[in-house]
Amino acid sequence: MMDKQNIYRYIDKKQHTLWELSDKIWDYSELSMLEFKSAAEYIRVLEAEGFTVQKNLCGISTAFSGSFGSGRPIIGILGEYDALSGLSQKAGSVEHKPLVEGGCGQGCGHNLLGAGSLGAAMAIKHEIEAGNLKGTVIFYGCPGEEGCAGKTFMAREGVFRKLDAALAWHPGDTNEITTGSNAASMQVEYSFHGIAAHAADDPYNGRSALDAAELMNVGVQFLREHMRPKESIHYSFADAGGLSPNVVQPTAKLIYMVRGETVQKAKALLKRVDNIARGAALMTDTTVTSRQIDGTASTVSNHVLEEVLYQNLCAAPLPEYTEDEVAFAAALKSTYHTSDLPGKRTAEDWKIRTFVMEKTQGGSVPLNNFVMPYSPSNTFSPGSSDVGDVSWLTPTAQFTAVTWTSGSPGHSWQNVSIGKTPIAYKGIALAAKVLAGAAADLMEDPALLERAREEFEAATSEGYDCPIGREVKPTAG
Ligand SMILES: [Zn+2]
Ligand SMILES: [Zn+2]
Repeated sequence: MMDKQNIYRYIDKKQHTLWELSDKIWDYSELSMLEFKSAAEYIRVLEAEGFTVQKNLCGISTAFSGSFGSGRPIIGILGEYDALSGLSQKAGSVEHKPLVEGGCGQGCGHNLLGAGSLGAAMAIKHEIEAGNLKGTVIFYGCPGEEGCAGKTFMAREGVFRKLDAALAWHPGDTNEITTGSNAASMQVEYSFHGIAAHAADDPYNGRSALDAAELMNVGVQFLREHMRPKESIHYSFADAGGLSPNVVQPTAKLIYMVRGETVQKAKALLKRVDNIARGAALMTDTTVTSRQIDGTASTVSNHVLEEVLYQNLCAAPLPEYTEDEVAFAAALKSTYHTSDLPGKRTAEDWKIRTFVMEKTQGGSVPLNNFVMPYSPSNTFSPGSSDVGDVSWLTPTAQFTAVTWTSGSPGHSWQNVSIGKTPIAYKGIALAAKVLAGAAADLMEDPALLERAREEFEAATSEGYDCPIGREVKPTAG
């Protein structure tokens, strides 16, 4: 077995490259499918580090890969870099201070996500070069996680199918293996078209698209009673017509998100929503067109890979935080209220709950600097992720590493603020070490990959049902 210390040392040696990259992506904070500067920066670093880069993956200009090595096994490491709108925030501040009013920010920590994943790919490349490992490592630049499920578009083209395993991580407030499954989702835009008219003088000549949209929402409201457990429907108004109430509104647009336990169930539920949209148009003598925006498959967990990640999470050195860092974290934590203990999925398990209570002093420590116990689970979680689509094409596992203060709200200015501090940098290093350690184990031990493949084949016997049709194109923004 290889000495993991070599991997850890190499990642520490490369830390400035990773920090600089992460900071640049934080500075750019580009929205889904508009990550042009971010992708260019990654490609620059990958080329400088000696990876073979494939740009414009699947015809998506901000998707790319960087590979090194030859032959099997082929281990993929997933990276993301897109930001969120409305979350501009000064770094390192414990006050809410936007840098640009209404600007974008890294509220999901994808600047850290990509850098940690790249650090792991760089360490594996170094070991292949040194002759300590055999095989291929591929870093995937996956755009548009927040806005349009970029990995689904890559999965539709079969990008991840050639891999022996895919590994990923996400910034978080616990060091914890992600286990269980997520919902499948489908996002669709419904556009209603009517006829404008003076609302008082000749409403009889008008046909209100806004009425149609409202009736659609009412129809879906009545549908909710007749849905299966684990299904959910969310919606927003993308266009409610004009601002003047004395006009019969000629246009209206709704965006619907439909979730189900599997892609098949989400598709079946979406059909019922489509029918309601048609019914609303019929009732109002308007017309409706629909366009799918994106979709994600449910997640197939792989307990063999999760165990490998867990062993590496336990083996890697946890960060040591300075007094100043802990004080900053405590001040940031005081800006939000949380009653949730970490590890929501496993909190049912009283043994784990007791462990967490003790470690966090009832959820009050600012940084959860310990490893959460791991128990393999098939628990369903109602959210969705485009890592799900990868998990239908190759054995896949992921974890979270601490980059945020405990209980920090997701997609928050607090997560943007901490994203350029040493606390976040330490999370990058930990994530890179765990991913690289796990990738090295998989490359060294074919039996592990065989077991992971057996579990994967059994869990995916019905095959990947891509949640997006061939006609669906990635939406920017
Ligand atoms: Zn997010
Ligand atoms: Zn995210």
